[in-house]
Amino acid sequence: MDTQEKLDILSRDAQYDLSCACGTKNPEEHRKKNHTGDGWLYPTTTASGGPGIILKTLMGNRCANDCKYCPLRVEKDFRPVALSPYEMASFFYEFQLKRPLIGIFLSSAVLGDGDKTMAMLVSTAEILRKHFGYRGYIHLKIIPGASRASIESALSYASAVSLNIETPGAKHFSRLTNMKEYQKDIIDPLTFIAEQTGRGGRFSRVSTSSQFIVGASDESDQEILSYGSRMYSNLQMGRLYYSAYQGGLGDPSIPGEQNRVEKTEQLTLFDLGPQKGTSADALMREHRLYQADWLLRKYGFSYDDLVFGKSGNLNLQKDPKLIWAESHPEKFPVSVKRASKEQLLRVPGIGPSYAERIVGGRGSCALSSLEDLRLPPATLRKARTFLEM
Ligand code: SF4
Repeated sequence: MDTQEKLDILSRDAQYDLSCACGTKNPEEHRKKNHTGDGWLYPTTTASGGPGIILKTLMGNRCANDCKYCPLRVEKDFRPVALSPYEMASFFYEFQLKRPLIGIFLSSAVLGDGDKTMAMLVSTAEILRKHFGYRGYIHLKIIPGASRASIESALSYASAVSLNIETPGAKHFSRLTNMKEYQKDIIDPLTFIAEQTGRGGRFSRVSTSSQFIVGASDESDQEILSYGSRMYSNLQMGRLYYSAYQGGLGDPSIPGEQNRVEKTEQLTLFDLGPQKGTSADALMREHRLYQADWLLRKYGFSYDDLVFGKSGNLNLQKDPKLIWAESHPEKFPVSVKRASKEQLLRVPGIGPSYAERIVGGRGSCALSSLEDLRLPPATLRKARTFLEM
């Protein structure tokens, strides 16, 4: 098998990890592969907010672990594929000379153990930096159970690292795997990464991200966002991603899976029973979690502001910001002539740039009606009942 054939297989297995969406406003977009024929290229967003393409792949797909939501788990029977560090580094380096890429995202199934796998990832980054003199973006996955020494090595070469938390808490985690330990393999390394990359840390230039698998256990949105808000505040996490669990991963009836999977069963959460709801519900749930995440990161909301239903979940039918506004009639309407930026940010439809524009434009133009704000019609429709002159 040549390098491109291996990449075709390994990049397909990497597609469910969204932690390299690099701050894109729309991580759902990142799920879509580039369809120009090179299946290892994924659309993403550059640090300055523009569109870009990243090469995303695993180094190897034969995993020693047993995560029940994962098509690569140990009991699956398929042909293992792996790339050597030099093979990966040289392929990427040559490729990006011909076609502009914003960088590379390197992940892997656990090949033997966490540190052996980290050694392959770090070695690839080292070859790129030292042998090829590559100065661009390198995102390295931190493998569950990695030692502090291997994490430090990764941080010394990477522009960004991620370690997926997967579930909010050990109880949910233990339902999905018997081989990984939540505290030792996930929380302790996440805490160490935060110490190294936070303010004053040796590697504060390195950005961090993590991902929740949503719906693989019976966790509620309230649990996810409670963990998420503490990861932002206590671990100074740069970005969180929420990936709706998709049943059927590894199913040979899915186009493209036939070549890789020789013997498999339909992936079911056999300890957990069937998933509730439709896949459209699962994707809407993911979307609502992203909206709530934006409120926490960009709109000055705290976890306590978020409104959950009796089940502990966000409302699938309505934007969480609209739900908050409707539950706080005492805060509205806010005056476009006098309200602070923070008050305007609580108005449905008004984001940070419109709030800044409204506050900044007060001295320079006379406002006699809401139309004078020159907001897009859809934005004004959402905001109108919450604003006054
Ligand atoms: S450790 Fe990662 S690759 Fe391995 S089974 Fe779990 S999720 Fe899959």
